Amino acid sequence: MLKIDGIAASPGVAIAPAFILENPDFTVHHREVSDPEAELIRLDEALSKSQQELENIKERTLQELGEKKAEIFESHLLILNDPDLITTVRDRITTEKVSAEYAMNVTAQEFIAMFENMKSAYLRERAVDMRDITKRVLIHLLGLTYVNPMEIDKEVIVIAEDLTPSDTAQLNRKYVKGFAANVGGRTSHSAIMARSLEIPAVVGTKEVLGQVKNGDLIIVDGLDGKVIINPTSDLVEEYKEKRDKHLQQIEEWKQLRGVATTSADGVHVELAANIGTPNDVTGVVENGGEGVGLYRSEFLYMGRTELPSEEVQFNAYKTVLEKMEGKPVVVRTLDIGGDKELPYLDMPKEMNPFLGFRAIRLCLERQDIFRTQLRALLRASVYGNLRIMFPMIATLDEFRQAKALLLEEKANLESEGVTISDTIQLGIMVEIPSTAVLADQFAKEVDFFSIGTNDLIQYTMAADRMNERVSYLYQPYNPAILRLVKMVIDAAHKEGRWVGMCGEMAGDATAIPLLLGLGLDEFSMSATSILPARSQIAKLSKADMQKLAAEALQLGTAEEVVQLVRNIKA
Ligand code: PEP
Ligand code: MG
Repeated sequence: MLKIDGIAASPGVAIAPAFILENPDFTVHHREVSDPEAELIRLDEALSKSQQELENIKERTLQELGEKKAEIFESHLLILNDPDLITTVRDRITTEKVSAEYAMNVTAQEFIAMFENMKSAYLRERAVDMRDITKRVLIHLLGLTYVNPMEIDKEVIVIAEDLTPSDTAQLNRKYVKGFAANVGGRTSHSAIMARSLEIPAVVGTKEVLGQVKNGDLIIVDGLDGKVIINPTSDLVEEYKEKRDKHLQQIEEWKQLRGVATTSADGVHVELAANIGTPNDVTGVVENGGEGVGLYRSEFLYMGRTELPSEEVQFNAYKTVLEKMEGKPVVVRTLDIGGDKELPYLDMPKEMNPFLGFRAIRLCLERQDIFRTQLRALLRASVYGNLRIMFPMIATLDEFRQAKALLLEEKANLESEGVTISDTIQLGIMVEIPSTAVLADQFAKEVDFFSIGTNDLIQYTMAADRMNERVSYLYQPYNPAILRLVKMVIDAAHKEGRWVGMCGEMAGDATAIPLLLGLGLDEFSMSATSILPARSQIAKLSKADMQKLAAEALQLGTAEEVVQLVRNIKA
């Protein structure tokens, strides 16, 4: 048995066998062969194994996820059986006398390049399918072991070095009971995705991948940030109890679903949810969210081969607005960069991606991308209560430029006869210290602020949010952070603006009393944190929390603040 400490990234306890998810090496070298016939046989075997696998996955997907998702595998099967592809690979083996994997890989790369240069978006998307098919066939030819996370079909705990946000989004909750990764912090986007999928997770363990073998029994304790490998049966029982207690607590919180969020002394605050896709709205409604405080629109741009069209975006925004039935929905414009990449934009690698060409900086330069998004948002605005928010604003000038583009697109649409809501609020994320410090000036021009503490903390403390070695500097309770938050709230209220917070701090039980006391108007968090937060706020008096916050602001360290909050809670 081995216990490893990590960062609690998504609450809950999961117990299941380990499934190691590693990206194998698909490098294929040029290899001449003396017996091409033998290579043809190897090729046929690899093709038929791939065919069998695809048919099984298609069938399972059809049963579990429906026809639409199963279509992906239907198109994979079509490609796998494409006579042009297969004949070219076979000819190459016999005429060039090369290995089956080499012939397959070179031919596939030619097909991929051809698809990528097609005019039709549909055909361009076939390049992604072609890549997947090639990997599948190469796995057999190279004797690799790899399973796409989407294809896991047994209850497991996924163990990985790291999971990208899009890997995480593909995990099937039915089978993936939890995950543990070597790297990552509480605010890395895979952790955020795990919370919205409600999969217990521990990240930043540094060593879990090296310590686990496939099939080892694993406990992931996403409440306290622990991973236990091959636990004793007593410990399994103990953790089963912990898991059941947590599930029971969730049931109790459900009683608060339709109730407004009010403090013990009768002050209402709004509890909203952070979402990444229109599908996440179901979780928001189930957890009694009073709005969407952050729709991370960049997830719409990920997992595809080209930018989403205005129509694709319009439909996504419209769906979210309609499903929220008039409740506020804050859509954040594209925040790509940092740990969220778009391979098809072909951006040069940067030394410090979190300090680089990301979010609004990219949008102000790539106005084509930005204008398409703004048009889609404006057109969707009539379907609900839309609020638009710009990410990573560092200067007033950036806000003014972004706003000017929004107004230009609004005028363009209106001249085309399109109706646009006239109640759209326009706000900014406060996640860069310069903006927090200058909040009084911003407050004269924006309708609202939403404090993005995930970035605000990393920039204030100069500590990369993805780097577990400096994760001790992710200090939401540090008085320096609390003072910045106060500065923003006071400046906004002076101008009659409201302030939300959509960084992870907003759903943190230790931070909530302080934020209530500082006067935060809207708390936006993972949907699953809403009901526990509502239950907590109902027990707190805002007047008392104002005194608590005032005291906290005068302390010197995060630890002292935590102690102060604990004393009050006790
Ligand atoms: C933040 O920085 O706090 C935030 C909410 O944005 P993201 O986590 O997507 O960077
Ligand atoms: Mg951010």
